[in-house]
Amino acid sequence: MTQKTYTTDVVIIGAGIAGLWLHHRLNNMGIHALLLENNAIGNAQTLSSQGIIHGGAKYAINGIFSKATQAIGAMPARWKSCLNGDGDIDLSQAKVFAENQLMWSKDQLSSKMVSFFASKALSSRMQTVDKSARPALFQHQDFNGALYQLDEPVLDIASVIQCLIEPWQDRIIQFASDTDITWQQDNGHIQSLQLGNDIQINAQQFVLTAGEGNEALLKSLNIKKPTMQRRPLQMVLCKAKDKTQALPTIYAHSLGSGSKPIATITSHFDKNDNVVWYIGGNIAEQGVGKPFENIITEATALLNDIMPWFELPELEWATHSINRAEPKQSALTRPDTAFVETKNNVHIAWPTKLALAPDLADKVIDKIQANLQKGEHQTLTDLPDIQISEPLWDRAFK
Ligand SMILES: Cc1cc2nc3c(=O)[nH]c(=O)nc-3n(C[C@H](O)[C@H](O)[C@H](O)COP(=O)(O)OP(=O)(O)OC[C@H]3O[C@@H](n4cnc5c(N)ncnc54)[C@H](O)[C@@H]3O)c2cc1C
Repeated sequence: MTQKTYTTDVVIIGAGIAGLWLHHRLNNMGIHALLLENNAIGNAQTLSSQGIIHGGAKYAINGIFSKATQAIGAMPARWKSCLNGDGDIDLSQAKVFAENQLMWSKDQLSSKMVSFFASKALSSRMQTVDKSARPALFQHQDFNGALYQLDEPVLDIASVIQCLIEPWQDRIIQFASDTDITWQQDNGHIQSLQLGNDIQINAQQFVLTAGEGNEALLKSLNIKKPTMQRRPLQMVLCKAKDKTQALPTIYAHSLGSGSKPIATITSHFDKNDNVVWYIGGNIAEQGVGKPFENIITEATALLNDIMPWFELPELEWATHSINRAEPKQSALTRPDTAFVETKNNVHIAWPTKLALAPDLADKVIDKIQANLQKGEHQTLTDLPDIQISEPLWDRAFK
């Protein structure tokens, strides 16, 4: 095959939510950007996420009003304007699973906790839910606990990906995962990259949004800092064996005796439209490396404990092991905000939360615009069709 040479203003490597969002924004702004992906789109963290557009309530209920709660607090409104078709990106065709993530406690909350939730700091982020407005699962006469709704929509991320790809798919290059990326540089300033022997791409700026793949890319560029951390999870999935007994849909954090949610459940649909519960939180963090049977026994006990009024149908189970990839923190803690660091003309980025993708794009765009002369670039032709990852709700149960 003869080598092709392309030119562009910006190369972005990695088509998870961070790369897709940035790619869409730059091209909408008239900055030519090519997005490179070495696997099915969304295959890694993005299509493993629970799709919650966090507004920080989960962190604020710990009483920690950190940088994280401030930065992330603006995200639900930002995404909602995109969903309404009047934001930075048109997500009006994306599917909203739930307007609000809920939070419940199976028992009544202490009066101290009730007044804390009603306090000025939290009341804008969470409200009690009227009995009549409760979803089916919480209508049961034996549910006597507390139920709050958070200002956090839950989205079908596959449909978000579709919206992000569609207008700019002729600027996405997918290639085999064993293809080497090599760099041509002058004094640490990258001038072009080479994909295997086939494609050379010349650009002014390069952005790494490859999630866990950033680590190998940084090594190939001989960039020692920033470094990356992985925080592993073993998520749990279950669905009714008999679809006529399908689980009810639920999008909620379960609050234990402390102020920290002990489980987070979202609901998704497999290809037969059966409801799949996707369970994260402590069970997924503490379940890393545990044998399948053990984690399923624990998950069954957990569900019986947090919703004792609900009789579970006979269930089929699966687990999904996945790493969260983030900039390294001391003591493997959760980073606070979207992260971008620049080395010459290379921007290294991790959103740290799907919800923070718009914030990440703002930060990268600020850095790119400071050093960019927009150019005229040729249209890419003969690109193969875009491959999007199979939904987790189908692949996990195989
Ligand atoms: C189980 C789970 C649940 C979560 N739930 C939520 C949630 O509800 N709400 C929320 O806000 N956040 C959530 N998160 C966090 C969120 O999913 C991540 O922060 C976000 O998806 C990271 O996006 P990303 O684009 O940086 O990385 P990724 O989605 O991991 O994408 C990186 C992409 O880069 C590609 N790539 C890697 N190496 C290369 C290479 N050399 N060349 C080309 N391409 C490459 C990969 O194939 C992949 O497509 C969750 C995370 C996990 C693991």
